[in-house]
Amino acid sequence: GATLGVMGGGQLGRMFVHAAQAMGYATAVLEADAASPAGQASQHQVLAAYTDAQGLAQLADLSTAITTEFENVPAQALQTLAAQRFVAPAAAAVAVCQDRAAEKAHFQSCGVPCAPYAVIESAEQLAAVADELLPGILKTARLGYDGKGQARVRNRDELAAAWAAMKQAPCVLEKLLPLHREISVVLARGIDGACVELPVQQNLHRDGILAVTQVPAPDVPEALQRQAVDCARSVAASLQYVGVLCVEFFVLADGRLVANEMAPRPHNSGHYSIDACDVSQFELQVRTMAGLPLVSPRLHSPSVMLNLLGDLWFDAQGHERDPAWAGVLALPGVHLHLYGKADPRRGRKMGHLTVTAASAAQARATALQAADVLGLPAF
Ligand code: ATP
Ligand code: MG
Ligand code: MG
Repeated sequence: GATLGVMGGGQLGRMFVHAAQAMGYATAVLEADAASPAGQASQHQVLAAYTDAQGLAQLADLSTAITTEFENVPAQALQTLAAQRFVAPAAAAVAVCQDRAAEKAHFQSCGVPCAPYAVIESAEQLAAVADELLPGILKTARLGYDGKGQARVRNRDELAAAWAAMKQAPCVLEKLLPLHREISVVLARGIDGACVELPVQQNLHRDGILAVTQVPAPDVPEALQRQAVDCARSVAASLQYVGVLCVEFFVLADGRLVANEMAPRPHNSGHYSIDACDVSQFELQVRTMAGLPLVSPRLHSPSVMLNLLGDLWFDAQGHERDPAWAGVLALPGVHLHLYGKADPRRGRKMGHLTVTAASAAQARATALQAADVLGLPAF
């Protein structure tokens, strides 16, 4: 049988590996850490850095097609692999997603609105920032995730201090917008341009980290959801994107839709699709790599996903313990996913759970019970 390769060994790679294996593929994971979530689940592991020429050659030898689960894999590495094997998404598309300045320029070129922003790469650009961008959020252009590499700034003094603290790395300053809700679109696009998407997710973040995803989105009008899907499709089409892509959006207090950022891979907000849809985002990823047909995923159960961060592994005294799994698994429709990470840390994504039910109200009620059992805040 064929072997599908993936760059990166995190939980997204692990769930990709599970989906690929369920469909009869073997998998190969390139990742330096021998105990990675994806590597532990894969038939083949290539223990190497993303830039290691030998490692890349080994992954290419093993694989018929290669994807990435890590959005910051060097675009050059994907380029190198593409000389030998089918690689999806392509290096050029991933490169746009890796740089907030390029990403925002791409949104604008597609006519997709984003937050007012300025690129800050020099002291001159810092001084030239328009007053209307403050208060704002300064974000490093590259390598940020889970709210890391970001600082909220109220005025020019705080902006200058924050940029200095970021060692004057290339940044984007975004205007702080009044958010009503956040939603995301996960789509899959094939080589032939055929495109399908998951039902739209409504997302709640805490401290810059995704905490809760609800589907169907309870508080966002369907017309706005359709608009988000149209935006995501045009963003993908103009990148000639192949693979799974997530576009995050803000719904503003005045009802406008604004694109936030995108990820060139399956997304945390799409994890519910494993348990609540007849085709998951990871199966879609497998299908785009293998050139198989894409069909629209159908939501068979309303669902709520709760992220399980490392904080849950510590009691009030700061001692490590296992969360109360028996208590949540006693609730109907709870699907527990743990990523096989040995060392819990605060803010680290250790797993998630998805609650499915016959109605959205029931899914929410059970998810609130699960949150209560675990000591998570209500939503
Ligand atoms: P991810 O883990 O999703 O990649 P990230 O570190 O790239 O996160 P963003 O998505 O840019 O960070 O921002 C994290 C969260 O911060 C957003 O989901 C939103 O809640 C809030 N946020 C970001 N930008 C703005 C803004 N311009 N105005 C208001 N809130 C914002
Ligand atoms: Mg991001
Ligand atoms: Mg984000």
